[in-house]
Amino acid sequence: MRNQLYIDGKWADPVQGGMFDVINPATEEVIQQVGAGTAEDIDAAVSAARRAFDTGEWPRLRGAERAKYLRAIAAGIRERQAEIALLEVRDNGKPLPEAEWDIGDAAGCFEFYANLAEQFDNGAEEAITLPDPRFTSKVVKEPVGVAAAIIPWNYPLLMAAWKVAPALAAGCTVVLKPSELTPLTALELAAIADNVGLPAGVLNIVTGLGGEAGQPLAEHPGVDKLAFTGSVPTGSKIMAAAARDIKKVSLELGGKSPFLIFEDADIEQAVEWIMFGIFWNQGQVCSATSRVLVQERLYAPLLERLVAETRKIKIGGGEGKGVLLGPLVSQRQYELVTRAISVAKDAGANVVIGGNRPENLEKGYFLEPTILTDVPLDSAAWTEEIFGPVVCIRPFSAEDDAVRLANDSRFGLAAAVMSKDGARADRVAAALRAGIVWINCSQPTFTEAPWGGYKQSGIGRELGRWGFENYLETKQITKYATDERWGWYIKS
Ligand code: NAD
Repeated sequence: MRNQLYIDGKWADPVQGGMFDVINPATEEVIQQVGAGTAEDIDAAVSAARRAFDTGEWPRLRGAERAKYLRAIAAGIRERQAEIALLEVRDNGKPLPEAEWDIGDAAGCFEFYANLAEQFDNGAEEAITLPDPRFTSKVVKEPVGVAAAIIPWNYPLLMAAWKVAPALAAGCTVVLKPSELTPLTALELAAIADNVGLPAGVLNIVTGLGGEAGQPLAEHPGVDKLAFTGSVPTGSKIMAAAARDIKKVSLELGGKSPFLIFEDADIEQAVEWIMFGIFWNQGQVCSATSRVLVQERLYAPLLERLVAETRKIKIGGGEGKGVLLGPLVSQRQYELVTRAISVAKDAGANVVIGGNRPENLEKGYFLEPTILTDVPLDSAAWTEEIFGPVVCIRPFSAEDDAVRLANDSRFGLAAAVMSKDGARADRVAAALRAGIVWINCSQPTFTEAPWGGYKQSGIGRELGRWGFENYLETKQITKYATDERWGWYIKS
């Protein structure tokens, strides 16, 4: 298990020598101490990335060459998938099958962007036709420069992959700051990159706290592009830091995503997808469908089935067999989520099931899956992200009402609709103000498709070719392609 910073192709202790504890949320035990990077380490990492970009070979390699490194990193992840998944479980708490899925996806993300890097070789130049025949012009795409990636704790390696893979594919160099709650698998990514011979300085990883390492990274003048995933308040600080130097910025922030279920929906399918939409990863999912709206006639039978299935969820340490719900990531997250439940109760919400710590688990940040009804529309439980296994469910009568309620949010990351009436599902999908809309499901995420939100859920898109564009600049090269005199100042 690595615990040092990875800067300029070398492992190093933080300049100031500080360390912080990494805790297994299922046992509350310290599993590792990791370097607490500060502004000096960030400066060293950005300088290394700057050198690798400004004078190194990486941005000048052909895309097909960079693709070889990305494929080798993917293979390195796949080779160690079981071991890295277990590390993710110990670091983050999620059930092992979920971690295995994530690690496989992270490898797939590097493979996807390896393919795009190759295609980029052929498609980096585009000729455009100008109205004045004396000129020719072409448009080229170039890497934006040094990218700083700041990521959260809910999908530690996968969030790293979503940023590092497209950035490297595009020819950028990277400084990655993982969450202080879950830094371990990012360090393994550095080890894998090192092992495949990625040139020094191309990928640098500085672990550390948000204020001590994240903020100096966001503010560093040597960074060209900020790519952030996390909460809205931190996103706002990142944007402020970007504003000072006019850095490029993309933000993937929070959500309070609605799931609209119409009365013609299959009840068993609806229950399955509601559960997948809110209990997967303990509900610590930015796109979790945490506001469920069910058409009146289906509401009571659906709620009954949902409660019955929720009661069966096995809760425990992520390594346990058959476990479907692990602990929340940290003591603080546990406190935030339990406080949100008690505030909801005070506001008049009814806890149908859950809301407590499971009686049989004495250690660990475990919380029962929780279903709230009668949640007032102006209460925090309905309007704010809880980021835990807590779902608010309420009935609606007509399609218009449901769409209005769904869109009545400052967030717009995701939304889902379930109906057997295809025309209605399409109509509702078109009306929902969100960057991701699922029909007859909730959460399936593909590397090929754009990911990001409307409104306060963020700026820009990750994944797919849109995620690649994040790391590219667009340059026009226009040529005066005639010997004819221009003749504005000098009249012949
Ligand atoms: P957070 O904002 O607290 O932290 C995210 C990262 O920012 C961490 O690495 C942290 O150390 C760093 N950070 C904190 N303060 C900073 C500062 N002042 N300057 C620079 N960096 C700083 O978020 P979190 O608690 O780690 O993650 C949960 C949030 O992330 C939720 O709101 C969730 O919705 C969001 N999220 C969004 C997506 C998405 O794709 N839209 C995906 C996952 C998580």
